[in-house]
Amino acid sequence: MKTALREDVAEKLTSLAKRRGFVFPSSEIYGGAGATWDFGPLGVELKRNVKDAWWRAMVQYRDDVVGLDGAILMHPRVWEASGHVENFIDPLVECRNCRHRFRVDDLPKGDELMDAWRSKRLDLSDTACPNCGERKLTDPRRFNLMFKTFVGPVEDEAAVAWLRPETAQAVYVNFENVQQATRRRLPFGIAQIGKAFRNEITPGNFIFRSREFEQMEMQYFCRPDDAPRLFEEWKAERMRWHRELGLPAERLRFREHAENERAHYAAAATDVEFEFPFGWKELEGIHNRTDYDLRRHTEYSGKKLEYFDDTTSERFVPYVVETAVGADRTTYAVMCAAYDEEPDKEGIRVVLRFRPQIAPYKVAVLPLSKNERLVPTAREVWAQLRPNFISTYDETQAIGRRYRRQDEIGTPLCVTIDFETLEDRQVTIRDRDSMAQIRVPIVELVPALTEKLRA
Ligand code: ATP
Repeated sequence: MKTALREDVAEKLTSLAKRRGFVFPSSEIYGGAGATWDFGPLGVELKRNVKDAWWRAMVQYRDDVVGLDGAILMHPRVWEASGHVENFIDPLVECRNCRHRFRVDDLPKGDELMDAWRSKRLDLSDTACPNCGERKLTDPRRFNLMFKTFVGPVEDEAAVAWLRPETAQAVYVNFENVQQATRRRLPFGIAQIGKAFRNEITPGNFIFRSREFEQMEMQYFCRPDDAPRLFEEWKAERMRWHRELGLPAERLRFREHAENERAHYAAAATDVEFEFPFGWKELEGIHNRTDYDLRRHTEYSGKKLEYFDDTTSERFVPYVVETAVGADRTTYAVMCAAYDEEPDKEGIRVVLRFRPQIAPYKVAVLPLSKNERLVPTAREVWAQLRPNFISTYDETQAIGRRYRRQDEIGTPLCVTIDFETLEDRQVTIRDRDSMAQIRVPIVELVPALTEKLRA
């Protein structure tokens, strides 16, 4: 039975995440570093499992997608060609009275205001500052979200470099390298997981929007005529993946972008939205980017990025269907979906109901007590499990408390060693969700756990 109000979940998760070692504010002892986060021992496992699940689905299981790991720092012309220097901006306004700054889309009726801004007829003289209520907002200023830095010892314009705001561009500029190295025919995709940086004006909602984050992106190169069909196919495939990860169908939906809302490169764009505790928000963007990027890089680099079809002797610039999802944001969605509370005799049992495939620890080994006769056997069992599963060991406090601790971090299975174990070499497997317990001989433990984790 669910007792947690969905709105409370965000707050509860933020505190659980820190207390149990999922996520810490970056540079916390210095007061934090402005919307950057560190993943702790459990968070790093969870996020890695999310990324592995993506890589398995997007690269390993497919015969038409290969991987890439591009550098974060690229030639500065890349970002001129991509349109980011000119277009990757948010309109920013400031209140002349209280000095608070806002993104126009964060103001009340933000969507309408953004429409007005895009068609250059935004008038904010009647809009009250959400902070102080005064009608003293400035005209919007164009604020580029890319972080600027310098390569080499001289800080002049010739040495400018940008921290990439998306991973996609490394794929475009390597299109020919990858195609020739792998001798791929269209359609084929290039997948990549990596850090991206955006100087967000209003970051927030924990790790939902941060300034440094990881993206999992795939660009699928195809014949222009095939792009609309492939766009639909990728939408379906990505929705399937999110469900498989454990996000419930009723908390996922598509949202088509209106024409005036689409990024400068997209002919069609759909978001996969998830119902976070603070509302429906974008989780993933799926775009038909046309031949925009390859054409622009051809224009800016002078190097032709084309595909030659040797069966038809045609030469053309491929279209691209892109799927772009945040690893941190997905990790957070998975945590929100997994959070559950139920009343029990000690008050409330908090459970993170992760699918076993993404749970940070698969198994916890728990001797019934710290008794010196039990501990060596428990340690021996743990040593047997470690090569097979990411696992943990805990011998402090009462066994009931330790089960609860594992429930709270989403460990699907606990293995308990008691005094009977010393006689019959059997242990108890306890299931997180049903709390059911079964006895299994130690020699059969690894296959028994493997089977249960697969179920
Ligand atoms: P938003 O509208 O939320 O700013 P966006 O439309 O700019 O996102 P895309 O450029 O399509 O996002 O990026 C693809 C994905 O990367 C997003 O769906 C999201 O999961 C992730 N992402 C983008 N910006 C951030 C951020 N600041 N923090 C965490 N994840 C992000």
